Amino acid sequence: MSRNSKLLNIVRMRCPKCHQGTFFEGHPYQLTRIGLVKVSCSHCGLKYELEPGFFQGSYYVSYALAVALFVALWILKSLFLPNLNYLTTLISMVIALLVLAPLLFAFSKVIWIHLFVHYDSSTQK
Ligand SMILES: [Zn+2]
Repeated sequence: MSRNSKLLNIVRMRCPKCHQGTFFEGHPYQLTRIGLVKVSCSHCGLKYELEPGFFQGSYYVSYALAVALFVALWILKSLFLPNLNYLTTLISMVIALLVLAPLLFAFSKVIWIHLFVHYDSSTQK
């Protein structure tokens, strides 16, 4: 995977334009700073909130990630624990969603901005 790969830099939670600057104020599980996006990139100066309310669109991505998580868990349950009852399955999925919620929230914002801002090689110094 190339160092400038969009997928790699989504996973690394880096600036979509330069792939160098960090995107969040802290770690996704640092609960006092959960989901706080920096104002701008420390490397290239890109202002992350492209317009007022820009990250509200990331809710669609967050929903899609949650559905993908549920589908993946359902497939795993069907393969490895086919006799698990529905209530236990539902409770397990809700617990998984609660544990992974900060990560899904962070990834939804990173994916959202990566949809609109593309890599610019001229930002490399
Ligand atoms: Zn940048």
